[in-house]
Amino acid sequence: MIKLTKNQILSWTSGENNFKDYNPKIANVVTDSRKIQENDCYIAIKGENFDGNDFIEQAINNKASVILSNRQSSNKEVITVEDTVIALGSIAKNYLMQFDIKKLAVTGSSGKTTTKDMLYYVFNEHFSTHRTDGNYNNEIGLPLTALNIDKGYEAAIFEMGMSALGEIDYLAQIVRPNIAIITNIGSCHIEILKSQENIFKAKMEISNYLNNDDYLIVNGDDKYLTSLSENEYKFNLIKYGFGEECQLRASDYKAVDGQSEFWVTGMGINRRFTLPAIGLHNVSNALSAIAAGLIYKIPTEKIQAGLMKFQPSKLRMQILEKNNIKYINDSYNANPESMEAVITSFESYARGRKIAILGDMLELGEFSVAAHERIGRLASEKFDLVFFIGSQMKHAFDNFSTDENTDKRKYHFIDNNIAIEEIKRIIKYGDTILLKGSRGMKLDEIFSALTDDNMEG
Ligand code: ADP
Repeated sequence: MIKLTKNQILSWTSGENNFKDYNPKIANVVTDSRKIQENDCYIAIKGENFDGNDFIEQAINNKASVILSNRQSSNKEVITVEDTVIALGSIAKNYLMQFDIKKLAVTGSSGKTTTKDMLYYVFNEHFSTHRTDGNYNNEIGLPLTALNIDKGYEAAIFEMGMSALGEIDYLAQIVRPNIAIITNIGSCHIEILKSQENIFKAKMEISNYLNNDDYLIVNGDDKYLTSLSENEYKFNLIKYGFGEECQLRASDYKAVDGQSEFWVTGMGINRRFTLPAIGLHNVSNALSAIAAGLIYKIPTEKIQAGLMKFQPSKLRMQILEKNNIKYINDSYNANPESMEAVITSFESYARGRKIAILGDMLELGEFSVAAHERIGRLASEKFDLVFFIGSQMKHAFDNFSTDENTDKRKYHFIDNNIAIEEIKRIIKYGDTILLKGSRGMKLDEIFSALTDDNMEG
């Protein structure tokens, strides 16, 4: 699909190139030198391991029609710019402005990908919708997502990630969303941002370019987001959640056969919804998608039908029954908020002994000890038996109270392999087991070891 010309790129990036009469059309914009095809625009980016500028000759051989580089060149294809990442952003921004489509953007400490996917299914029932692929949510992935939009689309959903102040502002000025969603304010990246207030401030940057008719949709159960007041902003504000004061409220949550059932009230509706994923946090994510759908007047039957198409990704609340043991594998990642969300709603789908395998929540810096201690206390209210894994989980272990009368038990391991042997010995038919920890803790290895083997006994 031919979507851009070289001279457009030249004017949008204020780059340098002396071949004014050379104005080829561009089929695709790529940053991966291995994927360059004829008529593509290759943007050379310096990464951690490779410098894309070293592949300019290869790009010319592969018939790229335009190349953006920070190096000077006498080749007609090469446009020289100061910063190729900024140039990519500027191309995406100007490209996107050509389309009259509904633009939605999602950020938050956890639940971004889930919410983005739920929004996609809801919107795609009614509008032809484009979405961020996987978690292409940074200063390179987001512009590439924008550049994949074409005339056929009526709506686009963008995921926005960040690790420092200013990053969401940068992404938001490219997209200029009509609806911005914040799922929660957690403590991810607190090592860089120093305080949760700063994280709050950073996430709020998603609203920087909203106009009067636009909407900010936020999780009203979140300590920080609940404090927002519509009077302070020119745009519309919608809060969703379980709390009374939310404009879109969920209640009567039940987990049945791996699905959530819940009642939704507000924004002109009052009806039951079913979601093929469990956990209160997923209901919360679904509420934001319902709110956005209602703003664009998507009929509730279609919103429900769209939500039914949502599939939780691998390692996110994945349910598996093996040898009559029920596993809930949420080992994709963990931070204090997601850990708490999953532990709190565990009992609604547990039967038999309630067991957890909990791994360290990483990158919490000076907040780590207190966060793990809190999880230890919460876990002792909710589980019969917990295997704590990792050096930080020792603090949780120390705060998990075992009471001889109630038969509660706890174990602590540093090494996954030793843990696997012990866990295999202790778990038995009828148990329900939750696995959750940061990605680096590799709890998926434990999950595989427990579920791949044939257990004895
Ligand atoms: P992200 O894209 O922000 O990393 P994901 O949608 O991939 O988030 O979900 C990652 C994990 O975060 C899930 O497995 C779940 O444990 C947790 N999670 C998802 N949504 C929420 C939420 N709204 N609140 C708290 N935790 C959540």
